[in-house]
Amino acid sequence: MIKHILVTAGPTREKIDPVRYISNYSTGIIGYEIASAAKSRGLSVTLVSGPTLLKVPRGVNFVPVESAEDMRRAVLKFIKRSDCVIMTAAVADWRPKYSAKRKMKKGPARSIELVENPDILAEIGALKKKAIVVGFALETENLEKNALKKLKDKNLDIIVANRLTAKKNIFGDNSLDVVTIDRFGNRTRIFNKRKPKLAKIILDKALKFRIH
Ligand code: C5P
Repeated sequence: MIKHILVTAGPTREKIDPVRYISNYSTGIIGYEIASAAKSRGLSVTLVSGPTLLKVPRGVNFVPVESAEDMRRAVLKFIKRSDCVIMTAAVADWRPKYSAKRKMKKGPARSIELVENPDILAEIGALKKKAIVVGFALETENLEKNALKKLKDKNLDIIVANRLTAKKNIFGDNSLDVVTIDRFGNRTRIFNKRKPKLAKIILDKALKFRIH
């Protein structure tokens, strides 16, 4: 029985200096919709979120974070009490190796050295016991092949894959086509669904998932 669910959402911000950062276009909508749907189903919900413009769903345990490292710490703290983890966050893959303490002065062109961020989902997948773990994959090509590889590499139960194309911008409040693949190889293709509906479908798949 799933009682407590942990959801990650939104982008992360990786500081360059006190006023600048590296990030991405994630809105956080799907994660907030999943958290809200889970709350409506009577579950206890922790929502670990990077910065977004969204209203926090009522009654969830909200944990705001900024960087991937902050998100990792929060996830590791709440994972122990969760029987389902749905990681929708668009975690930045890299962060600046050094972040300046003071605002960097305007001047000639410069480079920023980037280092790799921890892969939170892979870490959770590796240490999971009974929890159901759901990941997301955003791909521009070979959608299902790459998603399947991620499902296996990160030891997930379900992966939700979206294709980023010029026609379907996944970063807004619009309808999407996605494919879900589970660890037994079951695939479901879902067409033209708006995010609130899609969130409920994904949540229900996770709640019904049985580890055989
Ligand atoms: O490998 P990729 O970044 O495409 O995987 C996407 C999935 O992994 C998403 O579920 C995302 O939340 C998660 N992820 C993560 N930590 C990272 C990168 C991705 O948890 N550093």
